[in-house]
Amino acid sequence: RFASLPSPATIEGFDFDAAAGVDPALIGELATCRYLDSATNVLLIGPPGTGKTHLAVGLARKAAEAGYRTYFTTAADLAARCHRAAIEGRWAYTMRFFAGPTLLVIDELGYLPLPAEAASALFQVIAQRYTKTSIILTTNRGVASWGEILGDTTVAAAMLDRLLHRSVVLNLDGDSYRLRDHHARTDTL
Ligand code: ADP
Ligand code: MG
Repeated sequence: RFASLPSPATIEGFDFDAAAGVDPALIGELATCRYLDSATNVLLIGPPGTGKTHLAVGLARKAAEAGYRTYFTTAADLAARCHRAAIEGRWAYTMRFFAGPTLLVIDELGYLPLPAEAASALFQVIAQRYTKTSIILTTNRGVASWGEILGDTTVAAAMLDRLLHRSVVLNLDGDSYRLRDHHARTDTL
């Protein structure tokens, strides 16, 4: 049923003591899925290993369990699919596909710089969902550097306008959980 989720991560399995700057009450509120009724977006911003994907998967699972149409993808996958769609004449179909779910998770914006065409596809997906349906987006780059990721400061500004218009922004800037784990292990050797 949740075949599109990339990991078994859950909100219940999230360790708030290990996550600097994540408010358990806010995550608890998001876990109710009420934000979906107002088409509110959620931005998870922070360096690698800080639990962005974990929270995105956990919230997507909550939404799916509550019966909301939910789809999980990555920025790179979305870009690749839009690219193929353009070549194969399925652009309109693919845009409708990404407009459909009540919750669309777009994971890992910023790990790879997006070519102009991909940035434009991502913008169209965000624009057509604007004020109607929610996006959870994770990124390792602060919004100030989105111009760089997208190769175009105008597209970046227009995208941020729509994403942030009604949004919850979480900055996860603690130590990396993967590194913590590693340190913990080496400490006991
Ligand atoms: P990011 O997407 O920010 O790079 P991930 O969410 O993939 O990081 O986290 C890396 C690994 O650490 C995952 O296995 C995740 O489940 C785990 N993890 C990260 N933060 C926490 C946390 N606060 N509580 C429990 N597990 C966590
Ligand atoms: Mg991640």
